[in-house]
Amino acid sequence: MNLELGEERTAVRQLAKDFVAREIAPHVVEWDRAESVDRGIVKKLGAVGFLGLTVDEEYGGSGGDHLSYCLVTEELGRGDSSVRGIVSVSLGLVTKTIAAYGTEDQKRHWLPRLTAGDALGCFGLTEPGTGSDAGSLATRAVRDGDGWVINGSKMFITNGTWADVVLLFARTNDTPGHRGVSAYLVPTDTPGLTRRTVHGKLGLRGQATAELVLEDVRVPDSALLGPEGKGFSIAMSALAKGRMSVAAGCVGIAQAALDAAVGYAGEREQFGRSIAHYQLVQELISDIAVDVDAARLLTWRVADLIERGQEFATAASKAKLFASEAAVRAANNALQVFGGYGYIDEYPVGKLLRDARVMTLYEGTSQIQKLIIGRALTGVSAF
Ligand code: FAD
Repeated sequence: MNLELGEERTAVRQLAKDFVAREIAPHVVEWDRAESVDRGIVKKLGAVGFLGLTVDEEYGGSGGDHLSYCLVTEELGRGDSSVRGIVSVSLGLVTKTIAAYGTEDQKRHWLPRLTAGDALGCFGLTEPGTGSDAGSLATRAVRDGDGWVINGSKMFITNGTWADVVLLFARTNDTPGHRGVSAYLVPTDTPGLTRRTVHGKLGLRGQATAELVLEDVRVPDSALLGPEGKGFSIAMSALAKGRMSVAAGCVGIAQAALDAAVGYAGEREQFGRSIAHYQLVQELISDIAVDVDAARLLTWRVADLIERGQEFATAASKAKLFASEAAVRAANNALQVFGGYGYIDEYPVGKLLRDARVMTLYEGTSQIQKLIIGRALTGVSAF
């Protein structure tokens, strides 16, 4: 694997750094306290091309490869994980899935709007009763004339109250042992679809997380994404790539923790010297630095495998598992360097820890990642 970024990717990374410094960093504390990022950020993310990375220019995308996508995601995660998550879900889970499985009409209808930030996507897989065991979801789609009627509910849906379209997974086949799940593109203004904000999150407070309720929601046959009954494999393939994006966001959190810890250690004086002089403080900092490098290399490895057209799902689970746990460790170590000041929200590290914690839970918990890796190694499924 070539670790040289080259001119183009270096420029993309700089673009992301500048964007974060200009559009995100000045508002992070305010958005976190208000429990809402400014909705206007979506259009700005579209205008700069970050909602169209890796998508064909023909459909409004900004091209670029998966390593560029990682670099941008890392910078956004370094700035504010709430904003990073908006991109990871709308681009990573929805736009890229439409690009991969959509009909020409679906691509022409949705991709230019999603990549421009004129529309936002959300990914509706989890339900109140089914999380890790997503294949047993209970939302049901029934054929009705030349369309479908959908009933059920979805839980913890990122971008949920903001989104214009939900990539929704519903059961269409009840044969025992048969994972008869199909994927649909449902505009969120479809009658019968209601949304409720999930308040009181520990982290990612700026994100619009929602519960969706579907009561007799009618969609035409043209809303079906991919073949009927293939929805579960579409969801799993979207999540495999999505895990690279979560991992890159975690690298950003860990890097922000490192920057903050090094900066503070050089400024804060105790016992007559800056605390950077103390070996136990240096241990905290060096542990963060090793986590940053290891998480970044595992994440870039996934991007490299995707670009080479090789199997990447297990590598994505490894990267997501390690990077999410590393981000929690890194933020926690940084908080320790800050002492009591780490515990109040005027300083950045408490938020990093709150935001990092969910990374070990969503898009497959750490336990589920271990089961995926274990299955790949042993050939035995333990779930
Ligand atoms: P459960 O599945 O009930 O798990 C509870 C515990 O049991 C965990 O520790 C888990 O690891 C463990 N466990 C479960 N099964 C096993 C097993 N077989 N072996 C060992 N341990 C096991 N979902 C979406 O569809 N779209 C989104 O946009 C989205 N965004 C989210 C945003 C936030 C902020 C949050 C918190 C969640 C989001 N989710 C989303 C849902 C997320 O993916 C689920 O929360 C996650 O998959 C875990 O499911 P669960 O919460 O039901 O936990």
